[in-house]
Amino acid sequence: MPIKEDEGIVLRSIEIKEIDKIVTIFSKEHGIVKGVAKGAGKFHSRFGASLEPLSYIRFIYYEKEGKELFVIKTAEIVKSFFEIQKDIKIFNGFSQMAELMEEFVPPKARDEIVFRLLKASLEAVSIGIEIEGVLLYFKYWLLKASGLLPNLKKCKVCKREGEGYLSPSMDGIYCRECAKIKTIEVNEDISRFLAFIFKNPPCKLKEFQLSETEKTKMEQLVNELILHNIEKLPKTLSLK
Ligand SMILES: [Zn+2]
Repeated sequence: MPIKEDEGIVLRSIEIKEIDKIVTIFSKEHGIVKGVAKGAGKFHSRFGASLEPLSYIRFIYYEKEGKELFVIKTAEIVKSFFEIQKDIKIFNGFSQMAELMEEFVPPKARDEIVFRLLKASLEAVSIGIEIEGVLLYFKYWLLKASGLLPNLKKCKVCKREGEGYLSPSMDGIYCRECAKIKTIEVNEDISRFLAFIFKNPPCKLKEFQLSETEKTKMEQLVNELILHNIEKLPKTLSLK
């Protein structure tokens, strides 16, 4: 029963009979960990308060033999994102990120890139960057980090670079000349956005202006790619 210490971001926190809490944390060293926090569900519990969603915490926990859930012994807040958590739009955005991470990252697997991605997204929103842009940033990066983002620059047939349409098998694009089915467009705005986000942190998103139409197109494309790679429709993913 080795005791482990780690830091991480609380993704989910569910009260059990007003006594305990079941908490899902994206930790730095051990990826997604799920554990029970005894007594954290009680009214006015300081332990419970540190386990609110989106809190950045340092925590101590151990594994119980034969049990799926860890036991979270103590937790302290390193940085609370309480203010942004109260905004329903932001809260929903991060719920979507939490659900997607659970789909794409296997439990207990250290994933430094996704951890940094989540932390940077949280920090960006806390300095006033709009959640819609951060969510787009997060989704494209999550696909890239999982090795699931196809080449959206080069036509699969003639290898020419430029605008085109997503292939029906969603593994690349066909240019205007080669495409037989033209449903989901991959235009220059998308390429520009991708080039920008793969070079810059999300707190720089203010420098990148996106129109509502562009945003909708990028969202449609990334949601199609996500749905193609997971088996079930995430509860939080609303498709337009
Ligand atoms: Zn072509």
